[in-house]
Amino acid sequence: MPEWERFVKCGGCQSILFKPSLAASLGVCECGHHHPLNVHQRISMLFDDFEFAELDVMAGDPLDFPGLDEKLAGLRNAGNVAPSSAGGGVLGVAVRSFFFDFDFIGGTIGSAEAEVITRAYERATAERKPILGVVRSGGARVQEGLFSLFSVPKMVCGAAQHRDAGLVSVLLLADPVMASPMISFIPFATHRLAEPGARVSFAGGRVKGHDTEVLAEQQLEWGLVTEIVERRHQRSTIRKLLAAPAESANPG
Ligand SMILES: [Zn+2]
Repeated sequence: MPEWERFVKCGGCQSILFKPSLAASLGVCECGHHHPLNVHQRISMLFDDFEFAELDVMAGDPLDFPGLDEKLAGLRNAGNVAPSSAGGGVLGVAVRSFFFDFDFIGGTIGSAEAEVITRAYERATAERKPILGVVRSGGARVQEGLFSLFSVPKMVCGAAQHRDAGLVSVLLLADPVMASPMISFIPFATHRLAEPGARVSFAGGRVKGHDTEVLAEQQLEWGLVTEIVERRHQRSTIRKLLAAPAESANPG
């Protein structure tokens, strides 16, 4: 690895940080800026143990979008994973979970990813387990056109059934969370936690045509986010919420 690749500039204080030192502090700079974590770092930070759910769905190319098939194959070969679901434990609490790999086409949700998320909710409902979802997504996958939008009601049904069964769901929103998750499963969560400074909104600055972003702190004020949790406290906070009955939560 070239020497310069071992360093990263902090987006908060602009300091130059040594990546191994940053990783040892869960990706959080001394100034408090939360740097992105990949899906594997996120899993090892939150779970005691986990096992990927057996799935027979895979991201596809229903519109024969130019170059998409090759892109998907390249991502899989590089070890990236589309939104995946797993069973596991967080400090002794058994959960069903799903998480996004932002390096897999910006964590976008196509029909396969929506199926994975819906099945995680359905399985949790059948097993009467809480859900933990770690969300980092650019929204619907535009290369699938309407197919990705058709998947929104499916995720709504899965999340609504889980909530109506009186079960707890905890979502952790990490920078960025945009578009389709906001109008599908997020409103149904018992607890909607967010990382400090995360962009959380239906449309990002580029889509709106100006630079202002809606951050988690603003969403806390508006009520979409229920709590902002620094990374070092996330595991214990999530454990406490997963173990509590759903009635003690904020209504969605
Ligand atoms: Zn910093």
